[in-house]
Amino acid sequence: MSLRFLYSLRRLGLASFFLVCSVLLSAGAPPHPKLESLHLRVQRIAPDVYVHTSYRRYPGNPVPVPSNGLIVKTKTGALVVDTAWDPDQTMELLRWVADTLHQRVRLVVITHAHEDRLGGLPVLQANNIKVYCTPPTAEHAATLPFGVPTPAIKPYTVIRAGRTRLELFYPGPGHSPDNMVAWLPNQQVLFGGCLIKGADATALGNIDDANLKQWPVAVRAVASRYPKASLVVPGHGEWGDASMFKHTLELLHSPSSKPQTALSGQP
Ligand SMILES: [Zn+2]
Repeated sequence: MSLRFLYSLRRLGLASFFLVCSVLLSAGAPPHPKLESLHLRVQRIAPDVYVHTSYRRYPGNPVPVPSNGLIVKTKTGALVVDTAWDPDQTMELLRWVADTLHQRVRLVVITHAHEDRLGGLPVLQANNIKVYCTPPTAEHAATLPFGVPTPAIKPYTVIRAGRTRLELFYPGPGHSPDNMVAWLPNQQVLFGGCLIKGADATALGNIDDANLKQWPVAVRAVASRYPKASLVVPGHGEWGDASMFKHTLELLHSPSSKPQTALSGQP
């Protein structure tokens, strides 16, 4: 300890010294992960188009896993693709639409029957919001504890709201037997859902319900149907341009990604 430091200590007084130490210690300590609550994040990606990202924690993984869906502002209310991962974050989604877009959610479309797509369904049903999916998604949802959306969507369906068009397309089985994609032709935004892996993904994620043989076929069907896609939004992780199709195909063809994908419970 230098003389100068001892002199400063005397000036400050010992009590103040300990106070400064404890403040420094508490500032440096990481917050307890279990005490942090998870909140929805919304980012604008194109005119009238927003990505909603919700989070879920898995045991043994300190970093929460993100999950993406879309919010589309239209003349007649907001269209939403997929709920947030849980009811609380889905309630935050409804509040965001009300507070920021000053609209109500007119319709929610579910792109496949897994918790990250429809875990917030009870909140939507309690608010009398219409929630649509395909008949196979409704059938699978009936085996889960979140409720069943209305099976009003065909393998190819266009929803019109004012000038906005939202095209829903079933390309065949991939991540799940029922995975749909959603296309916004005016904004050239494609929501690939869990059929398309995030730009930051290094593995296929949960493949419990996947059809690994048909998955590449489905990705190629989407890529050739929407060659004008300027933004491709995956079910999880970072979005990007049309190179997302190639990235997904590379992960599907990479043998090294398969052992990691056996982690059950991951999205
Ligand atoms: Zn899924």
